[in-house]
Amino acid sequence: MSKKVVIIGAGPSGVLLAHYLLRRDNQYQVTIYERRSDPRLMSFPNARTFPISLNDRGTDALYQIPNVEAAVKRVSLEMYGTVFHQAGKTRVTTRKRPLVTLDRTNLVILLLELLQAYDNNRLNFYFNHLCTQVNLEAKTATIQPLTAGESHTVPYDLLIGADGSHSIVRAAFLTHDLFEFEQKYVLNDYKSIFLAHPQSHPEIKLEAGKIHSWRTNDGTFIVLLHQYDGTMGGVILFPRQHNQVAQLASCEDVLQYFQQHFPEVGQMMTEAEAEAFLKRPITRVLTTSCSHYHYSDSVLLIGDAIHAVSPAIGQGCNAALEDVAMLNSLLNETGDDLKIALEQFTLRRKKDAHALTELSNYSFPSSTRLFIEFILREQLGKLLHRLLPQQCPPSLSQLVFETTVPYAEILKIYQPWINKVKRATERQRNQPIN
Ligand SMILES: Cc1cc2nc3c(=O)[nH]c(=O)nc-3n(C[C@H](O)[C@H](O)[C@H](O)COP(=O)(O)OP(=O)(O)OC[C@H]3O[C@@H](n4cnc5c(N)ncnc54)[C@H](O)[C@@H]3O)c2cc1C
Repeated sequence: MSKKVVIIGAGPSGVLLAHYLLRRDNQYQVTIYERRSDPRLMSFPNARTFPISLNDRGTDALYQIPNVEAAVKRVSLEMYGTVFHQAGKTRVTTRKRPLVTLDRTNLVILLLELLQAYDNNRLNFYFNHLCTQVNLEAKTATIQPLTAGESHTVPYDLLIGADGSHSIVRAAFLTHDLFEFEQKYVLNDYKSIFLAHPQSHPEIKLEAGKIHSWRTNDGTFIVLLHQYDGTMGGVILFPRQHNQVAQLASCEDVLQYFQQHFPEVGQMMTEAEAEAFLKRPITRVLTTSCSHYHYSDSVLLIGDAIHAVSPAIGQGCNAALEDVAMLNSLLNETGDDLKIALEQFTLRRKKDAHALTELSNYSFPSSTRLFIEFILREQLGKLLHRLLPQQCPPSLSQLVFETTVPYAEILKIYQPWINKVKRATERQRNQPIN
């Protein structure tokens, strides 16, 4: 008889996992509960979305599912480097392996659309349904419909917590003695930015095929990506303390702020976008870390629920998709023995998930002085690796973005640098909040 799997969260990891499970010979009956509306039926929800870039870690997991690669290619672009803009000057770094960039919501939409290929009797979706509680012993989840209907409990054989950094499934683990959990807010908050076609401003040169980044001395920075439809999308990240972005109170304030501090972005920003920017909520970013990811043979946490990291490192989604591929390999290895597969998932994933959190928190310093040191180290690292590939490892960013070297190995190589940034960050964190 097939096992009843309940997935909480239709983000990239939850929906990709549904694909993997449905391909396993009728063994699983999958039901997904998602608190938000079905993104396929909504006008493009700018306020809640942002572009993400994926490297081989994420695309290897995605492209094992038939037709996903072609669908991703239709809504993504390849990026071969980054242009850093500062005071009218630019500095370019290039990469050999391109990053695939696309909007998070578009990734979810294409994965949802491709789920139609499977037998309807083995798959159910419930959007606008919030999971409010999990009873680990009874193996039930409480589901609250958000539009109409009563709260009810659903039984499961396997529950997947793919419900992001504020995971409610993970919260149920907290009732168990041996579960340890740590969360931290990163020092930067963010808001999404969406800009019209840059072609309408020929005076602004934003090379295609490159990620564009601007940074001010107070640690505020913008990352903008060309989108497949000709627009540009990205985020502005800014320090929570002393930040000007939170103080912007009118459309004029917004335009003036960008024109003064990020002139290229300011020129491309329309009044409508300034208005929309003002209304968009400021989002705080949580990083999470847990002692284990499974409960017995019946619950598993994946993705941001176990290793939410700062967007600055561009790895959260890559790692979330990697989790799914790893679980699939473990099911193959163990002949779908959930007890062993879930235990092994914790054992094998923990080192890398913890290392990813460290790398995300401390690879890229926020102080200007250390950031310059980071750039110099990167340049030197790349040069030495090119000249002496056997003796010198690739630079930190090359290892993270251009290889699938496990995060734990990268951390081992760059531990002294991470320690240095950690000390500086802790000093900054301990400054009094105004
Ligand atoms: C600004 C920004 C830029 C980023 N850029 C990159 C990048 O370039 N590269 C990269 O790899 N990663 C990037 N990330 C990280 C990436 O977006 C996440 O790591 C990824 O989305 C995690 O996927 P997930 O499926 O685990 O969780 P999520 O995407 O968080 O999805 C969780 C889903 O669960 C639903 N949910 C939550 N609670 C409940 C509940 N109680 N009941 C029902 N449903 C629930 C949510 O609505 C959501 O749809 C970025 C993140 C941000 C914020």
